Amino acid sequence: MIQKQPLLGLTLPELQEIVKQLSMPAFTAKQIASWLYDKKVKSIDEMTNLSLKHRSLLNEIYEVGAHAPVEAMRSIDGTIKYLYQVGENHFVEAVYIPDGERATLCVSSQVGCKMNCKFCMTGKQGFAINLSANQILNQIISLPECNQLTNVVMMGMGEPLDNYDNVMRFLEIVGSRDSLNIGYRHISLSTCGLVDKIDRLANENYPITLSISLHACCDEDRSRIMPINNAWNIDKLLDACKRYFDKTGRRISFEYTLISGENDSVEQAKKLAHLIKKYFGSRPVHVNLIPLNHVDERQFSAGSREDVKRFCDTLNALHVNATVRRRLGPDIDASCGQLRHKASANK
Ligand code: SAH
Repeated sequence: MIQKQPLLGLTLPELQEIVKQLSMPAFTAKQIASWLYDKKVKSIDEMTNLSLKHRSLLNEIYEVGAHAPVEAMRSIDGTIKYLYQVGENHFVEAVYIPDGERATLCVSSQVGCKMNCKFCMTGKQGFAINLSANQILNQIISLPECNQLTNVVMMGMGEPLDNYDNVMRFLEIVGSRDSLNIGYRHISLSTCGLVDKIDRLANENYPITLSISLHACCDEDRSRIMPINNAWNIDKLLDACKRYFDKTGRRISFEYTLISGENDSVEQAKKLAHLIKKYFGSRPVHVNLIPLNHVDERQFSAGSREDVKRFCDTLNALHVNATVRRRLGPDIDASCGQLRHKASANK
């Protein structure tokens, strides 16, 4: 049996090319895009304004390529973690976070990760595969709460900028008016700091929010917990962030995971404030403080609530805009860094 190609993950110009190849009228491309991204059908047969002949032509080579999650775990705080199967034997997680008027989905971009940040569960499991645009998009399209979604964050498993082309295709479809039409201002991408890719992203014309996983106030501390710092140090990273802001006008957001005894002293908070002032001056910046979430087999621990508050207060007193991120779904291991790569055998 031939493997059918998924339509989900194709842009409008690509759909236009397909209908041309199949000698279908040009306007059917828009109809197909609307069935895929607006009405979110699960099969070509449901595209009822296409003639039976055209549906059967499409069916010979293509499928919609939407796959419902295989498992859902609900937290008492309303967060829901979904498990999606990708390919034959891989799984990824996506986390749905309803919050008043907002509803955010945290999506994964890779199964596993190559970056090996020392405090992260995903990194601990090594790298398996890059997700295709179809597989990233499916986390949204096949989400039971899809129609309530207002925001998307690429903060799940994987390093999005290490899967650059598929992530750009995903962004094109998620944000474009012909497709999902979630505004770029409602999309964030989090990276550990691949400087060459940050510069490329700045030129793509997707005005998304860039979140930088900084996690340290000096190279010595950062290299200890984030191997990527040996390739691009803090100076190179913050220069790239400044270029990103100057090009896009989008406020940079920094993530700073507080690890007890590693990076959470008052001294380190002061150094961080000076670092940010030095590079960003009066440009708007926000620091998201994340109390370390527990991960198995890692030697790190979270500080007390008072330690976290002291760090946050020190930044604010030095006029650096900082807030503490709420822990979400702790009872279902849905917080930052806790998503894992489940093999079918131990699912
Ligand atoms: N590869 C991307 C996305 C990673 S997950 C990146 O590095 O930014 C999103 C955030 O969770 C990152 O800031 C990551 O460093 C952080 N994180 C990872 N493990 C964590 C843990 N155990 N506790 C708190 N935050 C963690």
